[in-house]
Amino acid sequence: MSQGTDNKGRDAVVLLSGGLDSATVLALALARGFRCHTLAIDYGQRHRAELDASEALSKQLGAASHRVIAIDLRAIGGSALTDDIAVPEGGTEGIPITYVPARNTVMLSLALGLAETLNAMDLFIGVNAVDYSGYPDCRPEFIASFQTLANLATKAGVEGRRFTIHTPLIDLTKAQIIAAGIEVGVDYSLTVSCYQANGRGEACGRCDSCRIRQSGFETAGITDPTRYCQ
Ligand code: ZN
Repeated sequence: MSQGTDNKGRDAVVLLSGGLDSATVLALALARGFRCHTLAIDYGQRHRAELDASEALSKQLGAASHRVIAIDLRAIGGSALTDDIAVPEGGTEGIPITYVPARNTVMLSLALGLAETLNAMDLFIGVNAVDYSGYPDCRPEFIASFQTLANLATKAGVEGRRFTIHTPLIDLTKAQIIAAGIEVGVDYSLTVSCYQANGRGEACGRCDSCRIRQSGFETAGITDPTRYCQ
C-alpha cells in the first residue's frame, strides 16, 4: 500500500466495528494520509458495547465522519452473535458458530454504497487470514472477488474509476497487528473484541475472540489493557 502523503486528503471508507482489528486499520489508514469516513454496522450483535467503542474510536483517532447503519441480521439468525445460540468458550472444530452468515458481504456492500456516494475509491476492512476463526469471508480470495464485484456493480466502476479494497491486516498475526497499532497510537483499552461483552464494554475473558486477543498481547509482549468483567 502507498505510504504517507501520496494519499493526502484522499477519501476512504473504513469499516469500524469497535474491535481491535478495525481500530488498527483506521489508525493505519489515517497514518497513510487518507481522510477516513468510518462506518459501523448495527446488525443486532450481542456485543452492543462495540458500537459505542466504534464511535469513541472514530472521534479519538480523528476520522472525518462516523456513521452507523442498522440492518438487523437477527432476522436471518444462524449465528451465536445474532441468534439464541450460546457463544462457545472452549474452541471449536471447523467454522465456528460465531460465523455470521454473509456478514462481510453485507458490510462491504454497505461500505461500497457509501464510498460511491462520497466519491471515495478506497475501502478498508480489518479482515485477517492468520489468527482468525476460520471465517470464509476473511480470506484474500473473497476480498479479491468483492473488489471485482465493486468495479462491475457501480456507476463509478462502469465510468472507469477503480475501487480498491484495502486489507492491511490480512497477512499479520494478532501479535503483529497489536504491535503495528501501538506504533500508530491505538489505545486498545477503548476497543471491544469480546463476543459477549457487557453493557460497559467489559470482556468475558473466555470466548474465542477474547482468547485470540489475550494471546496476541502476550506474544507481542504488551500488557493487555482489556477491561475484563470481575
Ligand atoms: Zn469474551
